Amino acid sequence: MTDASPTSGITRLLRAFHLRCPACGARGILAHWLQLAPRCPSCGLRPDRGEPDHFLGAYVISLGAAETVAVLLWLVLLALSWPDPSWTFMQWSAAALVVLTPVALYPFTRLLFLAIDLTAQPRRPGDFGDDEDVYR
Ligand SMILES: [Zn+2]
Repeated sequence: MTDASPTSGITRLLRAFHLRCPACGARGILAHWLQLAPRCPSCGLRPDRGEPDHFLGAYVISLGAAETVAVLLWLVLLALSWPDPSWTFMQWSAAALVVLTPVALYPFTRLLFLAIDLTAQPRRPGDFGDDEDVYR
């Protein structure tokens, strides 16, 4: 396993938006839509960075981003149906949006947090699994 070359925070964010490893830019860091692979297949980066609660930062980003997108989509639906919206439809669409949007954005928010975390703390012991005992 090799260490990822130094990159800027913007590059890491762009890689995350493209669902690529924020550290090296390779594909394959997603096991499936709702789960990251245990390691990047290219650089070996552990998406949880060796911390069992690493998902909490992604949760905060997911909450803010998903609910913002849900509100914006709901406002678009309201504007499209104006001046005579079906309030029953608007009620159910709001419920569906707040449930489905976090699922739709999950891999993006998870990788965005990883990109931000890698920018704030570039390389830490445990990132590549070569020194896993540091956090135990
Ligand atoms: Zn990688």
